[in-house]
Amino acid sequence: MRLSRYFLPVLKETPSEAQIVSHRLMLRAGMIKQASAGIYSWLPLGYKVLRRIEQIVHEEQMRAGHIPMLMPTLQSAELWRESGRYDDYGQEMLRITDRHGRDMLYGPTNEELITDIFRSHITSYRDLPLTLYHIQWKFRDEIRPRFGVMRGREFLMKDGYNFDVDKDAALHAYNRHLVSYLRSYERMGLQAIPMRADSGPIGGDDTHEFLVLAETGESEVFYDSEITDLRFGDRAVDYDSVAECQAVLEEFTSRYARTDETHDEATFHAQVPEARRRSARGIEVGQIFYFGTKYSEAMGAVVVNAKGERVPVHMGSHGIGVSRLLGAIIEASHDEKGIIWPEGVTPFHAGIVNLKQGDSAADAACEGLYKALISKGFEPLYDDRTDRAGAKFATMDLIGLPWRITVGPRGLEKGVVELTSRRNGESEEMSPEAAVDRIAQIYG
Ligand code: ATP
Ligand code: MG
Repeated sequence: MRLSRYFLPVLKETPSEAQIVSHRLMLRAGMIKQASAGIYSWLPLGYKVLRRIEQIVHEEQMRAGHIPMLMPTLQSAELWRESGRYDDYGQEMLRITDRHGRDMLYGPTNEELITDIFRSHITSYRDLPLTLYHIQWKFRDEIRPRFGVMRGREFLMKDGYNFDVDKDAALHAYNRHLVSYLRSYERMGLQAIPMRADSGPIGGDDTHEFLVLAETGESEVFYDSEITDLRFGDRAVDYDSVAECQAVLEEFTSRYARTDETHDEATFHAQVPEARRRSARGIEVGQIFYFGTKYSEAMGAVVVNAKGERVPVHMGSHGIGVSRLLGAIIEASHDEKGIIWPEGVTPFHAGIVNLKQGDSAADAACEGLYKALISKGFEPLYDDRTDRAGAKFATMDLIGLPWRITVGPRGLEKGVVELTSRRNGESEEMSPEAAVDRIAQIYG
């Protein structure tokens, strides 16, 4: 993309309505624009990152054997009356009446719809296990939408639902989700710690929330500091192996880590030596639930098991806050100049800054770099405007591309351009060809 032809409405002033750094930076970097309270338009740069996060979520869900689909945003109230949640959900649910006077709602989550799909088509344990998921917009009429995309009213969520013949099988699905979530967050450059949580209005038994530690987080958390040393890394886990998934769950959840809803001071003290006790704030970026037969019993989702008995199917639901993740990543990765995207989610792989637009050598070298990167499958953002170098650097720093290639007449006389890391600011001179190779290596 050439910046002269892109739509990147960066703001010079710090927007006064934004209270936390990720919200400020998303507005300043021209990523989002508020449409109304808690509802945002995703401008091109923000949309690009949103899509990259979504892509990682899809890849990791499919790797775990979970099946993508798409359910609508608008739902009929009928199903919610069957589960009993139409009245329970309260004012967070946006209720709509259509022209025929039928009660509709904008889905805050999808347990009812998916259970209805399941019961319409599946009657035998032979069709299990089954995990279906979608990535779809949700609406929750939050009493206090704030912090930009972190607590929106309309937000993008991945929600997945497992259907299993009994509790053991459903717990394997739970563990599979835990593993796939650890992998997903790490690919986004995040450490998200599974913490024992409270089940809330969805209801249930086993549940963990995934929290990114950040001062601006809305949740209070208590944990054993050892847990922050755990990394999933690039280990290969066989998602069909009950033992392997269980081992990961044990490794990542055996140490004390809880949100304030389940925190217990006495247990904390008994389990964790004082030097390792931490209390901090965290951003909830996902949650997994096993809730057994709550919906299947209420809605009659029954299968015949191997013994020929009719049993309600065991279920769980598992969510990732796709749009909230942009805010969480920025909270975890920024400096005073702007965003620092982890390579896994960056909107463009590298920025190209032409220090002297109009200089024939500089223009030609930039064009060469731009085309070479594209031909290798990368997306560069080429600042081909006639602005001052300082302004170009400031924009690149603000929007946070992890790598910048700076091209100017003086360097080109020596045959070099400069490759700069956004994270540590270190620069290295090299030939344009070497810079392209280096980018290819980094993202390889
Ligand atoms: P919270 O406690 O933050 O209100 P929740 O526990 O009600 O969230 P879930 O039903 O677990 O949310 O939804 C799954 C994920 O969707 C959450 O972990 C979070 O990352 C994201 N999410 C929930 N509510 C919002 C919101 N209002 N804006 C943006 N993302 C949200
Ligand atoms: Mg939650």
